[in-house]
Amino acid sequence: MTRLLFWIALVILVVMAVRSKLRAAMARAQGQAPQGRGPAQPAGAGSAGGAGTWQRVEDRSEPMACCAQCGIYFPASEAVRVGGRDFCSTAHAHQPAPR
Ligand SMILES: [Zn+2]
Repeated sequence: MTRLLFWIALVILVVMAVRSKLRAAMARAQGQAPQGRGPAQPAGAGSAGGAGTWQRVEDRSEPMACCAQCGIYFPASEAVRVGGRDFCSTAHAHQPAPR
């Protein structure tokens, strides 16, 4: 009987370890911004709660723009604005419109 209890406890421990590893991996994947690793998380971030972490991620994001020529999405800060339309590069800004 003690052997059975030992195996049940072992299975529970393994499941808890795997779940915590998965949660850490998912948090790491969501924390990675396209521009690479951001500033290091402060030590007190965990105690502040998950909402604060999400707010920080949202603050680092940048609005995207769509090129009127090729349709690619790129950071709006790099947009070449000609005639009220956004382009990914000066070359596309000076090409005639596709339609
Ligand atoms: Zn383009």
